[in-house]
Amino acid sequence: MLEFIKKIKSSEIDIVEHTHKVIDECKKINREYNYFNFISEELALEQANNIKKQLKNNDKNIKNKKLLGVAVSVKDSICVKDVESTAGSRILKGYKPLFDATVIKKIKEEGAIIIGKTSQDEFGFGSFSVNIGIGFKVPKNPIDNERTCGGSSGGAAGITKKASFPHIALGESTGGSIAEPASFCDVFGLCPTYGLVSRYGLIDFGNSLDKIGPLGKTCYETALLQEAISGYDEKDSTSLNVPSQDYTNLGNKNIKNAKIGVIKEAFSEGVAKEVKKKIWEGIKKLESNGIKYEEISLELPIKYGLAAYYMIGTSEASTNLAKFCGMRYGISEKLEGNFNEYFTKIRSGNFSEEAKRRIILGTFARMSGYRDAYYIKAMKLRALMTQEYKKAFKKYDALISPTVAILPPKFRDIEKLTPLQNYMMDVMLVGPNVCGLPHLNVPVGYENKLPVGMLLIGDHLQEKKLLELGSLLEK
Ligand code: GLN
Repeated sequence: MLEFIKKIKSSEIDIVEHTHKVIDECKKINREYNYFNFISEELALEQANNIKKQLKNNDKNIKNKKLLGVAVSVKDSICVKDVESTAGSRILKGYKPLFDATVIKKIKEEGAIIIGKTSQDEFGFGSFSVNIGIGFKVPKNPIDNERTCGGSSGGAAGITKKASFPHIALGESTGGSIAEPASFCDVFGLCPTYGLVSRYGLIDFGNSLDKIGPLGKTCYETALLQEAISGYDEKDSTSLNVPSQDYTNLGNKNIKNAKIGVIKEAFSEGVAKEVKKKIWEGIKKLESNGIKYEEISLELPIKYGLAAYYMIGTSEASTNLAKFCGMRYGISEKLEGNFNEYFTKIRSGNFSEEAKRRIILGTFARMSGYRDAYYIKAMKLRALMTQEYKKAFKKYDALISPTVAILPPKFRDIEKLTPLQNYMMDVMLVGPNVCGLPHLNVPVGYENKLPVGMLLIGDHLQEKKLLELGSLLEK
């Protein structure tokens, strides 16, 4: 990627010609794999032409841009000015934001070319990108198209693997939606510390859980995009005001003498033996590079993480979705009947099944009289889980588990799963997500021709350590 950026800067590669090729390839891939809800050809070419002009004029700022000419795909739930942004839902069809999300503003400033909005589960509700909005298409696994890409950032992970051109993706995770699809598609995926990346302009799923983060073919590329999007933003009240970090300088400075905790509970019977085998090979590789490990017990996240996550996630989602009623954003129809009748018609006709399920679950959990029994209890669990992690991080630099317990499943097997079995897919991931901890999926090789991913979890704001460990494994 560095080489590519250099060639763009020296005009050895013509940015406009290159972008035309990129868009053609995206269109071709999309015919078979459905990674994009929308390919933003017009915007991409406009950006490319601007860059070309600036290069021609020897504009002095242009040479410092970190992502100059790099294609970046954007999960559909992140707002891009004047580009349809639907979060994969028909209820938002036609919605073109009047503003850029902060992350988009930042990457545009760094010279990235925005190539399109990637497919996802509607509003992020799912783990296989099959809970799509009415009229959308399911993305297919780049390694075996009868299988899922994972989700909810499925399109993001798929195009990251499939693209032959330099590319990085912006994904989003509420309960695991960056690392899980990254694992199924054999790419890196970093979900940063909650608050490190601004959520301004992200179409909310659960405000206390949502994180925007990068997916890349290499650890370096993932770090590069993370560096570009991190930072305080006064437009997001939960944004962290911490000094900026250099993520791309991936030596082993922060992991010399590192000690890792391997989470025992994450290797139980339910985990596929192929997955366990690959993860242990990865651990041994780290060990042979001087990283010490110990097996540790971490009880709460795996036992109670899902319950806490689904309680908090659906409660927040059900309030967030209330604003989609056919009046302000996206779809609207002729106003007929009273408001209740109108809203009911719009909402019943345009949310798909999983969104409705979550609205009902979340509304139930928030009903008067139930608040203490459900929501408050889940928040207490969240605090206890955080304490348990924090205790572990006093001793260990990172924690390890598989990212997902199984290999990427076939679509026909997913159809047979109950909603609860669907929810269980993120059992390894809900812990760090609920506690706002950074986590990285690192590809550790193939078993039965399918990719396996290792999950590295770090303490708050320790993404650098994770990236250094990931880079060590990559080598
Ligand atoms: N699979 C989880 C869910 O369905 C997580 C989704 C996400 O992180 N956006 O809620």
